[in-house]
Amino acid sequence: MTLDLNPNDMSHVIAADREHVWHHLSQHKQYETIDPRVYVEGKGMRLWDATGREFLDAVSGGVWTVNVGYGRESIANAVRDQLIKLNYYAGAAGTVPGAIFAQKLIEKMPGLSRVYYSNSGSEANEKVYKMVRQIAARHHGGKKWKILYRDRDYHGTTIGTLATSGQDQRAMQYGPYPDGFVRVPHCLEYRKQWDVENYGERAADAIEEVILREGPDTVGAIVLEPVTAGGGVITPPEGYWQRVQEICRKYDILLHIDEVVCGIGRTGTWFGYQQYGIEPDFVTMAKGVASGYAAISCTVTTERVFDMFKDAPQDGMSFFRDISTFGGCTAGPVAAIENMRIIEDEGLLANTVAMGNRVMDNLTTLMDKHAVIGDVRGKGLFCGAELVSDRKTREPMDEKKVQAVVAECLAQNVIIGATNRSLPGFNNTLCLSPALIATADDIDRITNAIDVALTRVFA
Ligand code: PMP
Repeated sequence: MTLDLNPNDMSHVIAADREHVWHHLSQHKQYETIDPRVYVEGKGMRLWDATGREFLDAVSGGVWTVNVGYGRESIANAVRDQLIKLNYYAGAAGTVPGAIFAQKLIEKMPGLSRVYYSNSGSEANEKVYKMVRQIAARHHGGKKWKILYRDRDYHGTTIGTLATSGQDQRAMQYGPYPDGFVRVPHCLEYRKQWDVENYGERAADAIEEVILREGPDTVGAIVLEPVTAGGGVITPPEGYWQRVQEICRKYDILLHIDEVVCGIGRTGTWFGYQQYGIEPDFVTMAKGVASGYAAISCTVTTERVFDMFKDAPQDGMSFFRDISTFGGCTAGPVAAIENMRIIEDEGLLANTVAMGNRVMDNLTTLMDKHAVIGDVRGKGLFCGAELVSDRKTREPMDEKKVQAVVAECLAQNVIIGATNRSLPGFNNTLCLSPALIATADDIDRITNAIDVALTRVFA
């Protein structure tokens, strides 16, 4: 052990964190009066912090990542062995884990055939945006370069991906953004934008309206989350995806599905898009690929797209002029292979479906008791409860109160999440994404904590 820690006195670690670490998503003023939380250890769904306090983690590492749970020795061992054998090679060559994981991944994704490695969800998405622009340049005479994105969806934190942020609070103050990214309306039926019966089809038709407004010959691709995550756990309405697919085919628009959250089991199938019979041209994934044991993201596409980079004019710029330095780390793919084996051997997809149903049942039961729950939504172990101050008008709950519910869960040592500083006026959805290993007891403890928290905040 190189850290040389005294488990009975971790105050120097907390002090080092307070003085030198700039935390993600944090206003640091708060740490003038409270200690930052520093985690020390995890096992399954449980975490221990530097004060020795134990938590039940219902959000898989804060941001829906640790799908197979903490403390997996088999992943650590696989990574260790691989690092000793060969830790890295990048550029115009492959590695053994990179090749094997790509093959295993493609076996789960009929219709797709090529995997491009990088390290984060943002990066994986940017690769698609670059590919689409290059296809426009090489095959469409510079046309079809625009990319559509949807209100309330999120695709990353770089300037390029923030240009496709449907969550305004994340993008404010970081502009100006590059041109060519165009927003389409969201599809959340609970927040109806059209008073129609076939809501799914209507919401998809809104995409066609934008395409016609922009000119179909200018639009190259559309990026969509299969189930919108940070935008409020939005499950698509009936008929939505079928119509989206039709529209993409009609106008020759490449369909990019962002599976950074849903990918590798979160919704109960390997990928979220497989719930809805979608045939994507691009799929990006990151968080669950190696459950946070190593950094890895993948941009997956079809042979048709891949061929467009072989068939372009052969003038030295026909290939995808891109690299990801750490896309050459072998820790990512080797961890991903073992992560996938665990999900298969432990039957975690079936568990995700069963436990996801239990979360939905428990939350639906809570609606009888707590009028502040306006809507519950979910797919597999990816669930949300939208809080409102008035069920009839659906007035969104004040974000401070929503955060108070999260804090009251934490007071019971249960870590839950909520849409947070993303959507002005709509940071009102509690989010649950426990590890795919969750048991019925874990689920009940999480929803009981929410029950108690709602009573404490709203009684
Ligand atoms: N896409 C989606 C749907 C996400 O939720 C996120 C991260 N929350 C990203 C992309 C960006 O991933 P990363 O933070 O790894 O860049």
